[in-house]
Amino acid sequence: MRMLKLFTFLACFIAISFVIQGYFNHNHEKSKAKNSIVKSHQTDLEFKKFEVDEELNSPNDEKTVYLTFDDGPTSATTHILNTLHEFNAKATFFMLEPSMKEFPEAVHKIVEEGHGVGLHGVTHNKTLFYKSEKSALNEMTTAQETLEQITGIKTNLIRTPYGSVPYLTESYRKVLDRHGFKLWDWNVDSNDWSLSGKKYVNTVIRQIEKLIDAGETPIILMHDKENTANQLYNLLTYLTEHGFQMKKIEENTKPYNFNCYDRCRQLST
Ligand SMILES: [Zn+2]
Repeated sequence: MRMLKLFTFLACFIAISFVIQGYFNHNHEKSKAKNSIVKSHQTDLEFKKFEVDEELNSPNDEKTVYLTFDDGPTSATTHILNTLHEFNAKATFFMLEPSMKEFPEAVHKIVEEGHGVGLHGVTHNKTLFYKSEKSALNEMTTAQETLEQITGIKTNLIRTPYGSVPYLTESYRKVLDRHGFKLWDWNVDSNDWSLSGKKYVNTVIRQIEKLIDAGETPIILMHDKENTANQLYNLLTYLTEHGFQMKKIEENTKPYNFNCYDRCRQLST
């Protein structure tokens, strides 16, 4: 009888011990779970903080460069587009009206791949283009209409042949401005029309280094042609390695153009 009592007592003690241990274990698991939730929230917050910091920093850290190609489209446009695509780079094409008619597929491809489109006139003839305010305006309006017929896009971005200085006088600028056109020159001249092989890339890099020191955004003048296309990979490699974002010029990007000062004069015919 005594043995039975002792056995019952021990059985009860063991049972109670299990219950108590179970309770504590349960709470421990709960608190472990709670801790891990807190930790994961902390990680989320830290991650979000990191994201926000990055966003705040990016406008300062990010370097933009505008690649521009004049005189196209041509048979080299596809090569240029393929290279741009490899680097996830965007560019702006200032196109001639007869070339758009000759290579409408290239114009479509430029737009489809998200590049900027601008106008470079019709004749690319200094005497004809700069003959009068009206001739300059007419060339740009004609090119604007052709681009719109081909792509449905109406652009106001323009670059006048050989740049705005010296023949685009103040009165010409006023007329173009009144018709909503936005004039773009450049601050990096690749000289790719005269330099063979990789030489233009080296020229561009030297000019970019100076602009970075001055805190300016490079706007690179290039031409839609085969030698430029052949060496473009080298230029884009440099730009990518140096942290540049290659962006297209938007309609609302603040235009960059040469000031006349006392340098502009009416073309004498
Ligand atoms: Zn040109």
